[in-house]
Amino acid sequence: MGESNEFEAMVVGGGIAGVACAASLAIRDVRTLLVAETALLGHNVRAVEVDGRRAQVQQVAWHFGWGGGHWLKVVREHNLPVPVHFALPIEASMRGLPGRNRLPIMVSASATADFLFRLLPVPVEPEQRRDLERVLQVGMMIPWEELCLLHDQPIGVWLDDQGAGELTRMVIELLAAVVAGLPRDAVSDTFSVFGIFCHIRTYFAGDGCFTLIEPDPQRGLIEPLGQQVEALGGELWRGVKVDRVLVESGAVTGVQMTDGRVAHAPVVALAAGNTRIPAYFDELPPELGAPLAKEARFKHQQLMVATVLDEPVVDTDENLFIHDPTTGANIWMIPLHKAEPWQPTDGRQFILQWWGGVSGDTTDPVAYMDDVFEEEFPGWKRAIGPRRRFDRKHHWLNPCYVGPKVPRRSPGIRGLFYVGESTEPVAGIASEQAAFAGYDGALTIASELGRTALGSPANLRVPAGI
Ligand SMILES: Cc1cc2nc3c(=O)[nH]c(=O)nc-3n(C[C@H](O)[C@H](O)[C@H](O)COP(=O)(O)OP(=O)(O)OC[C@H]3O[C@@H](n4cnc5c(N)ncnc54)[C@H](O)[C@@H]3O)c2cc1C
Repeated sequence: MGESNEFEAMVVGGGIAGVACAASLAIRDVRTLLVAETALLGHNVRAVEVDGRRAQVQQVAWHFGWGGGHWLKVVREHNLPVPVHFALPIEASMRGLPGRNRLPIMVSASATADFLFRLLPVPVEPEQRRDLERVLQVGMMIPWEELCLLHDQPIGVWLDDQGAGELTRMVIELLAAVVAGLPRDAVSDTFSVFGIFCHIRTYFAGDGCFTLIEPDPQRGLIEPLGQQVEALGGELWRGVKVDRVLVESGAVTGVQMTDGRVAHAPVVALAAGNTRIPAYFDELPPELGAPLAKEARFKHQQLMVATVLDEPVVDTDENLFIHDPTTGANIWMIPLHKAEPWQPTDGRQFILQWWGGVSGDTTDPVAYMDDVFEEEFPGWKRAIGPRRRFDRKHHWLNPCYVGPKVPRRSPGIRGLFYVGESTEPVAGIASEQAAFAGYDGALTIASELGRTALGSPANLRVPAGI
């Protein structure tokens, strides 16, 4: 650590938003401190170990069709050799119905309708199909910048405005629910136009995709980005927890750590998870009241189970999602032994199950998923070997929900910025929205400091021999 602990900017939180922000500041010659409470950056996207294997539980969202995406811009600015792989193709199955269907990329409303009506066992009138295509096409054609601005418009109101019929509503809401891993009701009552169409267009319509980072997003993407801060003259404090944000005369002056140390800077950017922020202040900055109340209301549960199978009962090499029409649940299965061929293996299948539900749901999701999987893959329960369940409390869907968001900068405290997920402006889902928040935050701060240009080429990594 430097002697003076004086910086031009400091970033709190070593997730994808924090490293995107800190690295983007550092490469603009802003002397930056990144504070991370864990030894390794990207703790929330860590892989989970089961019997010598590492389960990558996050397939990093990539909005490549939306201006190249956000984390990609940061990676390119730093010229980092991040190995990115496309996720496996997707198959769809309906519980209780035989057969699986491979999803095409449904680039247009008509392509989507063609596929869905092949999959759904319901009679559809020509009028209903025309209605679905009409409304879906409107949503798929909204320019990206405009779509992002619709993060606070309820999907129900928008569908009313379009004069959408009941089947159209059901299909559009269900498509987003599948990707979010939530029941349809959980999106229809709460999601915005942005939340619905950002999901549909990223996952199904070719505007984006999900990726696997080798060896996992923590080690392959977030750690290398965070290390750039030090490489470019800033500091990275690992295993250090921020206790207080210091404010004097209406402006930030720095932060105090739980071990008593203080670092000074006229700019403090918070990317530590919005629900952690109140603890840093004696008095909650007023702009946080409404967004944090909203986040508390929309808590949902994300549960994953990684299982090594003692017998090879899974008969597909593709990602599979199973919709259960009786419960409305959407379950995902990812064959990690296929998706991550760089993993050590002894030939046994390594499977990730993924379930999302509304917090407080009383079902036992693991037993429920195993019942569904026994029907899909006979012998599943008998084949279960070493396994690990993990629940992660998180709010990654919050930008998709209607309601106020945390603003990029504090209107009342000079130098205080909010650059983590679920901040406004909103642009994207999941890792992409977090990376956007960090990058956009860095550009805002750098512009205020008069450092809009990238640093000298000497700062950039140039491979030896070129
Ligand atoms: C179960 C689950 C599955 C997901 N799956 C996907 C997926 O498949 N694809 C995808 O793209 N996205 C996925 N996401 C979403 C994605 O993980 C998040 O959008 C993203 O990680 C948010 O990044 P962030 O940097 O804003 O926050 P975080 O990753 O939460 O980072 C905040 C960091 O701040 C640190 N911190 C907190 N308080 C302090 C303090 N006082 N001092 C110092 N440091 C502090 C924390 O340790 C943490 O590392 C998933 C999320 C969950 C929960």
